[in-house]
Amino acid sequence: MPTRVPFDLDAYIRRIQNSPCFICEMVAGRLRGNHIIYQDDCSIAFLNKYPMLYGYALVAPIAHREQVTADFTLAEYLALQANVYRVAEAVRRSVPAERVYILSLGSQQGNRHVHWHIAPLPPGVPFEQQQLEALRVEHGVIDLSDAEMQALARSIRANMDDLAR
Ligand SMILES: [Zn+2]
Repeated sequence: MPTRVPFDLDAYIRRIQNSPCFICEMVAGRLRGNHIIYQDDCSIAFLNKYPMLYGYALVAPIAHREQVTADFTLAEYLALQANVYRVAEAVRRSVPAERVYILSLGSQQGNRHVHWHIAPLPPGVPFEQQQLEALRVEHGVIDLSDAEMQALARSIRANMDDLAR
């Protein structure tokens, strides 16, 4: 089991409610400490900086859109979902996963830029600790070094490239 460290939820909420959109900042190259897996004209994929599960990735549109369906045409939505599929499948090939969760959450009170969570559940987690319970930040986040995050992002990217071949 990877080491977990406590997560300061109150500080996090204060930060996201009082900072410019972190996804737009990351796309503009003004943010440090994020591990980008993949970027193209329509989407960006990156590792969750505060992963509850090992291999936890996020996919977002490059453009600042907020509503999960209302802010997209069907064609735009499907193009984005093609990348959600590719990232999820690459995550599944990169880390041990009994099941891969895909969710879109976000809030109009912080983290407004719509994004999809790709969260791989490792094998052997008891039923009552799966699903939303496995995503609770109150259980702490996985402590990964910068080098470990970099290696993980590279591995997911390599699997995406393999899928495209
Ligand atoms: Zn944004």
